[in-house]
Amino acid sequence: MTLAFDPLSLTLPAGHFIDGAYVEDEARLEVRAPSSGRVIGHIPVADAAMVDRAVAAARRALAVSGWATLHPRDRLRALHAWADLIEAEAPALARLEAVCSSRPVAHVAAGDVPVTAEQIRFFAEFADKEGGDLVPTGAGSLGFIAAEPYGVVGAIAPWNFPISMAGWKLAPALAAGNAVVLKPSEMTPWSTLYMAELSVRAGIPAGLVNVVLGDGPVTGAAITGHAGIDKVSFTGSTRAGAAIMENIACTGIKPMTLELGGKSPMLVFDDADVDLAATCLERGILPNAGQFCVAGSRIIVQRGIADALAERLADRFARPRPAPTWAESPGFSPIISDPQLRRIDGIVQAARAQGGEILCGGTRFDHEGSFYRPTLIGGVSADNPAVTEEIFGPVATFQTFDTEEEGLALAQHPTYGLCAGLFTRDLSRALRLTRRLEAGTVWVNRYGRSRDHILPTGGWKASGLGKDLGREAFAANRRTKSVLIDI
Ligand code: NAD
Repeated sequence: MTLAFDPLSLTLPAGHFIDGAYVEDEARLEVRAPSSGRVIGHIPVADAAMVDRAVAAARRALAVSGWATLHPRDRLRALHAWADLIEAEAPALARLEAVCSSRPVAHVAAGDVPVTAEQIRFFAEFADKEGGDLVPTGAGSLGFIAAEPYGVVGAIAPWNFPISMAGWKLAPALAAGNAVVLKPSEMTPWSTLYMAELSVRAGIPAGLVNVVLGDGPVTGAAITGHAGIDKVSFTGSTRAGAAIMENIACTGIKPMTLELGGKSPMLVFDDADVDLAATCLERGILPNAGQFCVAGSRIIVQRGIADALAERLADRFARPRPAPTWAESPGFSPIISDPQLRRIDGIVQAARAQGGEILCGGTRFDHEGSFYRPTLIGGVSADNPAVTEEIFGPVATFQTFDTEEEGLALAQHPTYGLCAGLFTRDLSRALRLTRRLEAGTVWVNRYGRSRDHILPTGGWKASGLGKDLGREAFAANRRTKSVLIDI
């Protein structure tokens, strides 16, 4: 079956999805296809009253369905059924995602969808396996720590991997017994709506998964400030994360998980396998046109192999060819919007003005839509904007060093600490540096997540608070209660 499609002929889900049904609302925001720049639909902006309606539906669904107190195997079974349906609907989901995002339809259908289904099943399995703890107390009493769901989780997701991000938020929250009010990005609303619809078709009680559409300042703020939301789970930029923290502080304290931006280093020593390193460096910045949080956007190479590696990279960076996300064969991804492309180009030009040398790329592709050439910038100092700022595009800087200490000093970022890549054949050095790198994840002689969903992901410093994936993400959707009984 062909996955290619005509972006103007798709039937798009309309409205918010609340209490198991679509809710119409005034269309307020344009949604554009980054592959063509054309408007392909409109979405409403949920105001405080609409968010309130979604929160009320979530509370009602929790009370009526008894989701939190069901036998855990029933929650597990419903989540498995949802994962199966998501997989069966891969082509439809992939088209709804590809039409407005940077994700090629073939990649979503073959990658994002099955991996998301797998992650839902992964979290489903915690439902009947992770309990509380019996703890040692004095002989005259029994002490235990119970773990209970929060109630209603307010989740806010970014545009770069809409299905995956919705899965990361929804699956552990539901498995732990919560209901969710989720806001996808205003730029990529439709695949998330369809996932919510599928949850009801799979037997998850209506009202447990609610999706409200809208922007950050109105809808996002209404979620994070709502008294009926018991916990906030956010993935997006550090700037928006800070605004959310502020809003939560001003509207009533509630727990939050924040997965934020990054500016991750790729530290390559001259004993590394150069071919492997070149492949990983490319994989660290070119997929999704560099629009992923763990992009390895700062390449830092020991002098002995720097020229050879720069040459290989310039060659690899010159190969990608753009293609619309709805084409049968995946091409190089577009930048999500033209304003974002102009922002990327602005940083590249500022980097050049401050002494950076454009080793390749540095301009937009001469192609319909918002496509930017893979770009490598050498000769940059530590304070060059291309080194300090998260660019969120196919742009990497290239720096060189002599000693291990110099390399490490370049790798540590003053504010971000999401990930780091390390390439060396020296095991002692690898172990030494994994201890010292300031990052929530370190990949050695590889780059990118595997399908080991047990490994949590999350940043240090301004890259975040708390974790997604892993046992930690399940735990983050429950709160503990200490119980002491005199016997
Ligand atoms: P963004 O912060 O602009 O938007 C993310 C979401 O937050 C959107 O749904 C948006 O509408 C909403 N939002 C914006 N301001 C808000 C506010 N004041 N209150 C509530 N909600 C608000 O980010 P983006 O451009 O969609 O995504 C790119 C960013 O996400 C990058 O910084 C990237 O590194 C980060 N990201 C991080 C991870 C991770 O796991 N750490 C994963 C993916 C993306």
